[in-house]
Amino acid sequence: MINPATGAPVAEYALAQPADVDAAVASARAALGGWATATPAERSAVLAKLAKLADEATADLVAEEVSQTGKPVRLATEFDVPGSVDNIDFFAGAARHLEGKASGEYSADHTSSIRREAVGVVATITPWNYPLQMAVWKVLPALAAGCSVVIKPAEITPLTTLTLARLAAEAGLPAGVFNVVTGSGADVGTALAGHADVDMVTFTGSTPVGRKVMLAAAAHGHRTQLELGGKAPFVVFDDADLDAAIQGAVAGALINTGQDCTAATRAIVARDLYDDFVAGVAEVMSNIVVGDPGDPDTDLGPLITLAHRAKVAGMVERAPGEGGRIVTGGVAPDGPGSFYRPTLIADVSEQSEVWRDEIFGPVLAVRSFTDDDDALRQANDTAYGLAASAWTRDVYRAQRASREIHAGCVWINDHIPIISEMPHGGFGASGFGKDMSQYSLEEYLSIKHVMSDITGVADKTWHRTIFTKR
Ligand code: NAP
Repeated sequence: MINPATGAPVAEYALAQPADVDAAVASARAALGGWATATPAERSAVLAKLAKLADEATADLVAEEVSQTGKPVRLATEFDVPGSVDNIDFFAGAARHLEGKASGEYSADHTSSIRREAVGVVATITPWNYPLQMAVWKVLPALAAGCSVVIKPAEITPLTTLTLARLAAEAGLPAGVFNVVTGSGADVGTALAGHADVDMVTFTGSTPVGRKVMLAAAAHGHRTQLELGGKAPFVVFDDADLDAAIQGAVAGALINTGQDCTAATRAIVARDLYDDFVAGVAEVMSNIVVGDPGDPDTDLGPLITLAHRAKVAGMVERAPGEGGRIVTGGVAPDGPGSFYRPTLIADVSEQSEVWRDEIFGPVLAVRSFTDDDDALRQANDTAYGLAASAWTRDVYRAQRASREIHAGCVWINDHIPIISEMPHGGFGASGFGKDMSQYSLEEYLSIKHVMSDITGVADKTWHRTIFTKR
């Protein structure tokens, strides 16, 4: 494993083989019964202990996350780790709040009741951009629901997922309930996604891989949940607070070096504000401190790998050929590590690659719009539908944007904040299903209807519809 800030090795770990995936799934299957039949209070107690242990292990989790991803220590300390701890804590509580319709006689001759049961063994595959948060978002609702889990973190960022599993064991989670298999998507990921003996496959990652995972799971008819790519619009109406929009655009575009599925990537700005917006964003971006992720004064760490930087740089370099104007950035600093300067590309065409495709780097593309209809049309002119924001002081515009923008989350006068109680998940090419919140717990539960005869008679009235006694 390589530190993307230095190119130096961070750790060595074993790579699983498909046979290890079989063993992990068998372990999860064997442990399922005991965990699924534990009371909600018992499950809650273990998860609450895990939240406490994770909180106490903050320094280690931050260090691991920074060394394996290169994210700035400020981000890991103020966002990744506390957000994960809060999410664990949330699901410790959610485990005790299963809901359904009231039991009752919906048919006069029967009592109906609803049971909520764990889906079963859950296979989970996660990406490298927020290794701990993505693991928590998938594993915790599954555990809260009573499922057992086999998770495959990204090959290049397994550390915090392994630590989470160790802390879960320390918290009292029974052996076999939470299994980690390390290794590549090609070997371990395919074996897990297409495994016959899991009951559900949940995935966070890119859209093309997510679709492969869905196909593999579909071969067995398994339930799936997919959190995929994004290309979030950032719509600035002409009555917006320009300073707030400029700062919001920089924060929204640069979080995690732009390697964020909800990052602001397409700024769609009213013509009257356009020039000032571009100048303001360029000025803030040019002052961003790029460098050592371990330094609390660093704003922007490296991209995840040199190969990923080459992909980002290639897209930026091709942008002028499609009409884009690079206002700032577009360069990789000299020296080791896969760093890339914050980049602003103005005047891009609607069909250009940087406007349509996910870049997953610190790059913001900008276009103007003519009227509100045009702004919302441009916002929705994408296959993705994960997140969006609208910047306006007009309550009617805000309401219209939140109603008409096709995305799983629409922020008004902000971009990025998330919270454990509220769902995260996309539409269209961004996938389906929810992470975080009570909605996520639902993903891992099956609803069973139990209908009991309350007449006690053999000769039931409805039988006459089927046969007549002669
Ligand atoms: P990725 O290439 O799709 O990989 C995601 C995971 O899938 C990794 O663990 C990868 O393993 C594994 N994988 C690769 N090929 C596989 C296959 N054929 N079968 C099964 N598993 C396979 O995505 P990434 O580059 O890690 O992450 C970036 C992407 O994730 C972006 O598109 C981003 O938008 C998306 N994302 C979405 C959300 C959301 O909530 N919607 C959140 C975060 C990230 P290896 O890498 O080990 O080979």
